[in-house]
Amino acid sequence: MQLLEGRKTARELEGKLQERVLEMIEKHGRAPKLVVVLVGDNPASLSYVKSKEKACQRTKIDSKIIKLPKTVSQDDLLKVIRDLNKDSKVDGFIVQLPLPEHIDESTILNEVAPEKDVDGLSLLNAGKLMNRQSGFVPATPKGVMMLLNHYSIPLRGKHAVVVGRSNIVGSPMAKLLLNNDATVTVTHRYTENLKHYTLQADLIVVATGVVNLITADMVKEGAIVVDVGINRVGDKIVGDVDFENVKEKTSYITPVPGGVGPMTISALIHNTMDAFLNKMENSKK
Ligand code: NAD
Repeated sequence: MQLLEGRKTARELEGKLQERVLEMIEKHGRAPKLVVVLVGDNPASLSYVKSKEKACQRTKIDSKIIKLPKTVSQDDLLKVIRDLNKDSKVDGFIVQLPLPEHIDESTILNEVAPEKDVDGLSLLNAGKLMNRQSGFVPATPKGVMMLLNHYSIPLRGKHAVVVGRSNIVGSPMAKLLLNNDATVTVTHRYTENLKHYTLQADLIVVATGVVNLITADMVKEGAIVVDVGINRVGDKIVGDVDFENVKEKTSYITPVPGGVGPMTISALIHNTMDAFLNKMENSKK
């Protein structure tokens, strides 16, 4: 069994990214800029936003957090987004999810200009992924692909079983694996006999938020297991996989924490760099 070390991989990739950022500062007089819009004070969101800010600082990407009260109206939030869309110094921005209940998530996400939508959650970017066109891909599934690629794990012809079908993780994950020539099965909360499918998997990617959903009896000998889940149990963070028992059967497995989480942040800042490069390229046309 080998660990897929997300934290270590993310740091290595950040080192390379920082070199490119420094080149960009030299060439264009400024660094790429990411803005994170945070509504309310959800502790998990605050901690994710801080990690994103720290990753920007490490790579010299310019970052800013716009904090809004959880009572902010949808119209006022839309206005903030429109201003960011117009701001020529902002290359990419994200609206941290979840949003308070009085705000319609898809209205907000679709207001983000596609060329600045570094979370890849607008309909246009989702559609591009669906049609195998290049666009921004949501950070978590992109981070998983970067991790698999870093460990040179072949996907062509392999059977990948994705557990979970959210717009943020499971569905784009399945499409990325399919676009990389894996044979993909998507499972979800209504799947009957989940084990029947996971036992056939060369690669399992699980993103459900259900602690210990994947147990050792559900995993084929030598399979690769990627655990996206982040669950707080007491004062510990665990994934969706019964790690201690499952790890013995796998060829590769991600730890939680230190697996997919840091890769998600890495993918986001790589998307920000891409948004910056696209803008510089387009300004020449
Ligand atoms: P979600 O609640 O939007 O979706 C959960 C999915 O799991 C649904 O598609 C549902 O059908 C499926 N599911 C639920 N119970 C199931 C069961 N018993 N069997 C099979 N499928 C089941 O959640 P999400 O936003 O996709 O996040 C999933 C998990 O990943 C959460 O723990 C979240 O905290 C974590 N997450 C981690 C990162 C990261 O960077 N590591 C990023 C995003 C989400």
